[in-house]
Amino acid sequence: MDKKAVQLCPVQRYLEQLHSELAGMTGGEVASYIPELTRADPAWLGIAMVTVDGHVYQAGDSRQTFTIQSISKAITYGLALEDRGIDAVLAKVGVEPSGEAFNSISLEPDTGRPLNPMINAGAIATTGLIEPAPDSTPMTRIMETFARYTGRPLDVEERVYRSESDTGHRNRAIAHLLYGHGILDRPPEEIVDLYFRQCSILVTARDLAVMGACLANNGVNPITGVVALQSRYVEKVLSVMSTCGMYDYSGGWVFHVGMPAKSGVGGGIMAVLPGQFGLGVFSPPLDEKGNSVRGLEVCKRLSRDFGLHLFHVARSTSASVIRQTYDCAQCTSRRRRSAAELVLLAAQGGRIRVYELQGELLFGSAESVALEMLSGLSDYDYLVVDMKRVVATDNASNLVFAELGRRLAAEGKQLFFGDTRQLYRFRKELQKEQEGRQHPFGWLHFEDTDHAVEWCEDQLIAAAQTAAGVDRSLTDLKDQYLCSGMTPEELDALHAGGSERRFAAGTLIFRAGELAESLYFILSGEVEVWIDSGSGHHMRVTTLGPGMVFGEVALLNQNRRTANVSAATDAVCLEIRFDALQDALRTRMLVNMASYFARKIDQDTRLIQRLG
Ligand code: GLU
Repeated sequence: MDKKAVQLCPVQRYLEQLHSELAGMTGGEVASYIPELTRADPAWLGIAMVTVDGHVYQAGDSRQTFTIQSISKAITYGLALEDRGIDAVLAKVGVEPSGEAFNSISLEPDTGRPLNPMINAGAIATTGLIEPAPDSTPMTRIMETFARYTGRPLDVEERVYRSESDTGHRNRAIAHLLYGHGILDRPPEEIVDLYFRQCSILVTARDLAVMGACLANNGVNPITGVVALQSRYVEKVLSVMSTCGMYDYSGGWVFHVGMPAKSGVGGGIMAVLPGQFGLGVFSPPLDEKGNSVRGLEVCKRLSRDFGLHLFHVARSTSASVIRQTYDCAQCTSRRRRSAAELVLLAAQGGRIRVYELQGELLFGSAESVALEMLSGLSDYDYLVVDMKRVVATDNASNLVFAELGRRLAAEGKQLFFGDTRQLYRFRKELQKEQEGRQHPFGWLHFEDTDHAVEWCEDQLIAAAQTAAGVDRSLTDLKDQYLCSGMTPEELDALHAGGSERRFAAGTLIFRAGELAESLYFILSGEVEVWIDSGSGHHMRVTTLGPGMVFGEVALLNQNRRTANVSAATDAVCLEIRFDALQDALRTRMLVNMASYFARKIDQDTRLIQRLG
């Protein structure tokens, strides 16, 4: 990331200003029930924010280390879910807020199950669920997990650990109670020791922000790209943070700040705005509920000033995701067509409808797009959805589109999605849906939208030609635009001077950069004009068929080929060498080309106007 850009960014300026405004704020007491914690400087104030794009903003003492304390509970809870699965964890620890102090001994009367994993009883039970691995202890696994979240190896502050271990009688008592109820199945001393160590891991406000950003980013560390938590458990961890993360201020916190968060008696707060960023704040003085006084203020201000409350809902509607919609009477594929075919498409192209979607497809927007597509059902036979500009789809929108596909198939409509390469989950969902179904081509059959549209056009044209009994091969040069105005004698001379060439499907006829020495009239079959759009990506310029010509532009400059041409099907062409061309014929061709280009410029101008 560009350091200068970060310094200039309004977010950085805002955090610095917030820091200087709150630096002088007093109130609260540094925690003293663990004697070592009293060594913290009450003046420390660190603020850090890390976005899901991995941008880091920080102000004040954001690199000062302190012990993570209760914030560790959220991370260990995620690890327990990964180790044991949701049901096994729920059997040992509930998810109901207690409304009581963090160290209360509140267990369900019958089962002895702690109410939630964010109070000490629940956290000790959770730590007891972490499995040893064949080659590592539970503590090693906990340290490795935390390091995946922070992106750096962490240490335990031995003095704080000793201090808590020497004085933590209440937590020991809780562990013994849990053991008595069968919630712990290993010796309570061992588990409570693990818990004390986990609470004494040293972190910074910046670390907390990165950890929060992992949770905001579906479990993936946005800086290292490493998976910190399997995505299916992210929402579970965030849920308990929302309802139980801020001691017995959790209700007030959701009301005033509205971000899942967890605080610790070391003075840290880790907050998460899902999909956007993680926030880490550190300031040791605590209020009577155990939350950092200035930490709370930072979060409240940020939420208020930017309107960041989780329940602040952005609208997502069809208007925001439908970029444009058109049919093939208005705009055809890049395939070059004969004049007769263009007339046909102008008349019947309305049967092919194209929707260009953009942005992020979520439940709400997918639903209204699907509704719009279904409401015009009688107007079209082919629906092509261009996904090129769609950056992401969620689970809900994948299901909505799979259902849309089923509905359209039942109505006898042909549906294709083009340019879906970047949408892995969307593709997977739709492929699953299509398995075992008898489709000539699946919804994802065409790589890009243009080929899908071309195929639909071919269907319309073929149907019309079959109805009219037209032969698709065209050996007569008089129908070539390049030959228009030539006498029958001239046409014969042209034919006699050329040589017939047969190309099997897939053959490269010429390559970009080669010297151009001839032009080719297509008598039967099809050829594709294409370029390499960088890194070997094959991009189609156009496809040509019988009655069309290629390579003729070189007649203007006799230069090098500007594109590649391959046979798309078995094809027969008449090759005319430029040096064998009589002057009169050459002039005739140049004039025809000029009038063709004049028409094309006119057409393109109209297209540009429409797109504008
Ligand atoms: N290790 C601390 C305890 O259990 C954590 C307290 C906290 O941060 O809430 O007492």
